[in-house]
Amino acid sequence: MIEALPPEGVPADKVLAELRDLRAVDLPTHGGRLFAYVYDSALPGLDELAMSAYALSAHVNGLDPTAFPSVLGLENALVGAASRLLGGGPGTAAPDVVGSVTGGGTESLILAVKAARDARPEVARPRLVVPTTGHAAFAKAAHYLGVALDQVPVSARTLRPEVGEVAAAIGPETVLVACSAPSYPYGVVDPVAEIAEVAAGAGVRCHVDACFGGWILPFLRQLGEPVPPFDFDLPGVTSISVDLHKYAYAPKGVSVLLHRDAELRRPQYFAFAGWPGYTMVNPVISSTRSGGPLAAAYATLRHLGEAGYLALAERTLVAVRGLAAEVSGVEGLRLFAEPESTVVCFVSTDPGLDLFVLADELTARGWHTQPQLSYGGLPANIHLSVTASVAPRVAEFGVDLRTAVEAARRAGPVRLPAELLGTLGALPPEQLTPDLVAGIAAGLGLDPAAAGRPPERMAPVNTLLDAAPVAVRERLLAEFLGVLQRPAY
Ligand SMILES: *Cc1c(COP(=O)(O)O)cnc(C)c1O
Repeated sequence: MIEALPPEGVPADKVLAELRDLRAVDLPTHGGRLFAYVYDSALPGLDELAMSAYALSAHVNGLDPTAFPSVLGLENALVGAASRLLGGGPGTAAPDVVGSVTGGGTESLILAVKAARDARPEVARPRLVVPTTGHAAFAKAAHYLGVALDQVPVSARTLRPEVGEVAAAIGPETVLVACSAPSYPYGVVDPVAEIAEVAAGAGVRCHVDACFGGWILPFLRQLGEPVPPFDFDLPGVTSISVDLHKYAYAPKGVSVLLHRDAELRRPQYFAFAGWPGYTMVNPVISSTRSGGPLAAAYATLRHLGEAGYLALAERTLVAVRGLAAEVSGVEGLRLFAEPESTVVCFVSTDPGLDLFVLADELTARGWHTQPQLSYGGLPANIHLSVTASVAPRVAEFGVDLRTAVEAARRAGPVRLPAELLGTLGALPPEQLTPDLVAGIAAGLGLDPAAAGRPPERMAPVNTLLDAAPVAVRERLLAEFLGVLQRPAY
């Protein structure tokens, strides 16, 4: 039992020991065995440096740059570095780039959409055009901001949108066109040059979501990889987001949102003086902001330098190529896309080889992959986000992948009761009551009440979600989470 506020305080060393115990059930953040959520450089000392820097600035408040100029200094340094890496700054075609540090990619995208919406107050019903492979955070931004979402499908062959379809989706109410470099699900870079051109032609802003790959694509290009143009070199690109807590290997809580110039950024800001309290001007969603993440990111960047990131990119590339070769060498698996950044994504070509079962078999062998559900004619697949820490693990993964595939074939595909699947398909999502969801969870052998430990077998859950229509999937996820999020007394 976890109790946050005991009647009498608990000694510091005991509290830390309890926290260590609590962390023991988590997936491993280091060691190159978790292919999502975490970004591990595997460089000795880098974490310690970042944590020391974090501690130095943890209690500083970025709310007021006049009170804490250090936060402003760190923010300007991080924005300058991101701008220079992404085609902006002195001597480039985008000398006037400005930006903000946000708490994460989602916040950066929400603010990009907000700035675009508020720049066009005459548009009564603003709309956002984004490929289906654009990050879910665009849908969240649209939802939060009252902007309609126009999703453009991607080609099943290239996994990118056709530029003609993007152009056709742009209308008089479109305030922003977005694309990805690369998309998270498959790691492929959208045709940014063409998309930015059609957006500019229509007089609409174009945001490039480089949250995932913005910090590594420039280094992969330096290594000779054929990275297409995607940054401020392209005149139609008006804003770019890049997460420092991904391939800049900074601890979580830092992303950068860049605009081509200050005029484009202005509607991102919120200022309020119509109350008797302190005058407030916020560039981002949070008001009180810890200096910790910024200091940690600054220390990480400064310690690694361009040479450090180039070396990390090289190691990551070796890992990507190695994993792709391992996957290609297994009968029954096929690369879904030829890797062009840091994602290795594969599908099953054998009906007897269930990917969700394979993911569980890999978990049982200590490898944590990310199953992705089928969507819009695109098949279910397994996604691997690859970081530098994976390089020394590739051969070991290859061996375990083969035995996991054999085990998954022996186990056979998950078969859920036809009755359950029929119900889910026919059910209007609003009829998915908490009781019904609890019943479904129990039927799958899940006991959400016994949370604290992830279920050992996710395949039944994934199979169920995969079989459900999108609206039912969303409702099921929200209901499951609602069951997990209960106060501990
Ligand atoms: C991770 C990611 C985001 C969202 O970032 P968070 O930091 O998780 O909020 C947005 N876009 C892409 C392409 C991403 O990979």
